[in-house]
Amino acid sequence: MKTAIIGAGVAGLAAAWDLANAGHDVVVFEAADRVGGLASGFKDESWAWSLEKFYHHWFQTDADLLRFARELGLDGKIMFPRPKTSYWLDGKIYRSEMNLSTLQLPLSWLGLIRLGLAGVFLKLTPWWQPLENTTADSWLRRWMGDEVYSKLWRPLLIGKFADRYRDVNMAWMWARIKARSVKLGTYQGGFQSFMDDVADAVRRAGVDIRLSSPVTSLTREAAGWKLVAADIEITVDHVLSTSSPTGLLKQAPALADTSYGRAVASLDSIGAICVVYALKHSVLTDGTYWLNLPAQSADKAQNPFPFLAMVEHTNWLPSANYGGDVLVYCGDYADPNHEYFTLSDEAMIDRFSQAFKTVNPDFEPGWIRKAWVWRAPYAQPVPRVGHSARIPDLATPLPGLWWASMSQVYPWDRGTNYAVEIGRRAAARMIAEAQP
Ligand SMILES: Cc1cc2nc3c(=O)[nH]c(=O)nc-3n(C[C@H](O)[C@H](O)[C@H](O)COP(=O)(O)OP(=O)(O)OC[C@H]3O[C@@H](n4cnc5c(N)ncnc54)[C@H](O)[C@@H]3O)c2cc1C
Repeated sequence: MKTAIIGAGVAGLAAAWDLANAGHDVVVFEAADRVGGLASGFKDESWAWSLEKFYHHWFQTDADLLRFARELGLDGKIMFPRPKTSYWLDGKIYRSEMNLSTLQLPLSWLGLIRLGLAGVFLKLTPWWQPLENTTADSWLRRWMGDEVYSKLWRPLLIGKFADRYRDVNMAWMWARIKARSVKLGTYQGGFQSFMDDVADAVRRAGVDIRLSSPVTSLTREAAGWKLVAADIEITVDHVLSTSSPTGLLKQAPALADTSYGRAVASLDSIGAICVVYALKHSVLTDGTYWLNLPAQSADKAQNPFPFLAMVEHTNWLPSANYGGDVLVYCGDYADPNHEYFTLSDEAMIDRFSQAFKTVNPDFEPGWIRKAWVWRAPYAQPVPRVGHSARIPDLATPLPGLWWASMSQVYPWDRGTNYAVEIGRRAAARMIAEAQP
């Protein structure tokens, strides 16, 4: 069987590995000049490691990813240092782990008890299905109370979903609390090195990975699927697309007239922005890696911080990996129509850097050696109430055309672990269908 995969992100490469090992003749087309998709990285001249464009780490619960790395012989380069994660509350930094340090949060005793009881319930219950019938906004407000909700959870929901924060279902929040560890994982050399090593293993299994090759057309013909990408035109038996819902509908316009296509078109998502600063000095001098920032309004202009999280990467991994730079992400999620997607890089760098002075009064603009702005219009699916019934299957109604994307990952929050899982699940079904 000849199979084409659209996208050399984690899902596409995981699927390619299984399909090639099952004897398929596989070609992967990637629009970008490198593999990795949303998990890809970049490197400044003086750095030994690459840095993820958008902050990335693994959890010890990421079983599919860890199994895949083991299978490819790459697990020896995975490490799990334990960073400090915190909240910025009432002008101070507090630890944010669910343990005894929670008692120091500036909450009433009643609030702390409700946070503890509801938190333990969410950590222990395996039944997420009833939780998807209510919004996270109403469940958390009801069971944890207004005080805990407005100080801890609403900022997180607003940061992640902006004006859609009241629509997200509670199963999504359950999944975030359930499947997380305090130790966070990375790969020697950074995520881009991991993706490059995965791509090398996939190539050794016989896969042809074509970079800078955006697929521009996909048509069904008698002999199979005709695919046009950059300088080549091929015909294959199967196609697996790993792009966004809009991407899939553009690649296969014939889907638009089907109920499947309408379901794909109705999936909601939000974009992400990260401004990365290479600084001369530390901003989070207490050693915090991840600082959750407060937000009371979905309108970013009304909040004390114009973004969701300040992440001092070099409080997690040594700055020696990056030529001594202190690396800080200022990250946020926003609708692709938000001004964060049209403002110039200089304006974004200037706007987000204003927050450094609030958390560290010693900060001076002269501390900034260099900065980069990364934007992804499709970064986070928005799962609404009753989402499980609306997820399109991996098999589209067009014979031989498959789709595996972040929008079908559920109830878990999208991530590289689930990209491995969905890519391999799609491959298993394609292999089964191809068998006589
Ligand atoms: C801000 C942010 C933070 C994140 N943090 C984490 C984290 O800490 N840990 C974690 O595990 N995950 C994290 N993730 C999620 C993780 O990056 C994704 O879940 C994962 O990378 C998705 O992989 P994928 O292969 O499904 O999709 P993608 O990575 O989006 O890959 C799809 C690929 O398809 C290509 N493509 C699209 N259309 C075409 C076309 N027409 N022709 C050719 N190629 C095409 C794209 O260029 C892309 O490379 C984060 C994501 C974001 C945005």
